[in-house]
Amino acid sequence: MQDDLLKKIISHAKEYGFIFPSSDIYDGLSAVYDYAQNGVELKKNIREYWWRSMVHMNDNIVGIDAAIFMHPTTWKASGHVDAFNDPMIDNKDSKKRYRADNLIEDYLGKIEDKINKEVEKAAKRFGDSFDAAMYKSTNPRVLEYQQKYDAVNTRFNKAMNDNDMAEMKQIIEDCEIVCPLSGTRNWTEVRQFNLMFSTQVGSVSEDSSTIYLRPETAQGIFVNYLNVQKTGRMKIPFGIAQTGKAFRNEIVARQFIFRMREFEQMEMQFFVRPGTEMEWYEKWKETRLKWHTALGLGEENYRFHNHEKLAHYANAAADIEFKFPMGFKELEGIHSRTDFDLKQHEQFSGKKLQYFDPELNQNYVPYVVETSVGLDRLFLAVLSASYKEEKLEDGSERVVLNLPAPLAPVKVAVLPLMPKDGLDIKANEIFNTLRKHIYCVKDEKDAIGKRYRRQDAIGTPYCITVDHQSLEDNTVTIRYRDTMAQERVNVADLVNIVNDKCSLNSLL
Ligand code: ATP
Repeated sequence: MQDDLLKKIISHAKEYGFIFPSSDIYDGLSAVYDYAQNGVELKKNIREYWWRSMVHMNDNIVGIDAAIFMHPTTWKASGHVDAFNDPMIDNKDSKKRYRADNLIEDYLGKIEDKINKEVEKAAKRFGDSFDAAMYKSTNPRVLEYQQKYDAVNTRFNKAMNDNDMAEMKQIIEDCEIVCPLSGTRNWTEVRQFNLMFSTQVGSVSEDSSTIYLRPETAQGIFVNYLNVQKTGRMKIPFGIAQTGKAFRNEIVARQFIFRMREFEQMEMQFFVRPGTEMEWYEKWKETRLKWHTALGLGEENYRFHNHEKLAHYANAAADIEFKFPMGFKELEGIHSRTDFDLKQHEQFSGKKLQYFDPELNQNYVPYVVETSVGLDRLFLAVLSASYKEEKLEDGSERVVLNLPAPLAPVKVAVLPLMPKDGLDIKANEIFNTLRKHIYCVKDEKDAIGKRYRRQDAIGTPYCITVDHQSLEDNTVTIRYRDTMAQERVNVADLVNIVNDKCSLNSLL
């Protein structure tokens, strides 16, 4: 059913001009998408919400826009050349490619499901007196599952940490994992696959050298740390924010814009005094969750997932997960990255990247707390939480996007009841005044009900209808998207009414 929801959202996004497959006339390009006329507005508004709350609302955070191409040594220093890999495996019969770690994780997930089912069944049998922990530690069948789980999980974690691809293959064989498509166990070896796209810079092949499309925006911030700190006279703690494209050659790219090969990140690196990083880490976790929930998509749709297995550069990490149509998945990462990146860049560049702390009278390499959210994932979160199919009192149905008003692509549709008798001229007048304040459209075609539905489907919060009475007393009807209620208001009040709900200020 949830799969259905994702399918519906994909087709709605295409039908109503939010997202098209890239190069659609050539049947698209896997995991690459184009934002269409309404999508680009929604995406821009989300980016703007992030930028304003991150940069404009914080005295000690500034923004940059670094280039996508960077000196290739950047990616040596950051560890991406050597370690930004995923293990991949192919099934020789279906010719399908998988991430070996995902196959094993799915296998472990199935064992977990079996344990949970046993516990649920027992809970029903025993009623109120049921003690789940006790049952799990004594029931022979559950214990057997748990032992199996632990044995595979231990081997899996060790193989991943040791980069042992032969052992990964062995686990897949020992667990008798089959390809979901062909149902066979005819697998290739497991190989490490680097996720970075590379290309050549230089006009003649002899003096060209390999450079990468950045796989994250963060490194553009690290290499500019000193430039910004000095020219902005920034005092620690301070942050540098940036939004922009990142590229990853994802092995398995499914689930629409959740996992793309070209996507956009919104990242902020916060530089702090060593030893204070956990305090800031907690603070940013809280701040970022509040920022998300302010959108009103439902607090129950968010949860934290604290990482137990940490990346080599981190001393604490958590994801904010969102309940997508595919279930709870990572939306944003918050990482305490220690001084790993700056120290690596010091070493590889031979330049000092330190801060003189006047209070301590001491130089040090700052520690970093990072917040990193995918703009496209957030777009999908907003779209999927806002998509509603409603049955109306008169038996008809409508599809409406209950988008947070400040994010809606179009804020107001101005609709002359009919394009004659001077109604169109009056509508034009209103439209020309409003468009200076907010993005609005004018629509004259089709019956008024049909026009309302079109606006509902793209999430326009207000429709303004101009009728004969408007010519007499300078009033119009305003129709509210969510309730479909209508009221008569004075034209002179429109800007205030609309701005009140649609301005990003209401979220900040
Ligand atoms: P995942 O585990 O889902 O691959 P990640 O942990 O590799 O994600 P990070 O490197 O922490 O992701 O990147 C920060 C954010 O960038 C993620 O929280 C996500 O919102 C976004 N992101 C990462 N990879 C992609 C992608 N392929 N497509 C769209 N967004 C992405």
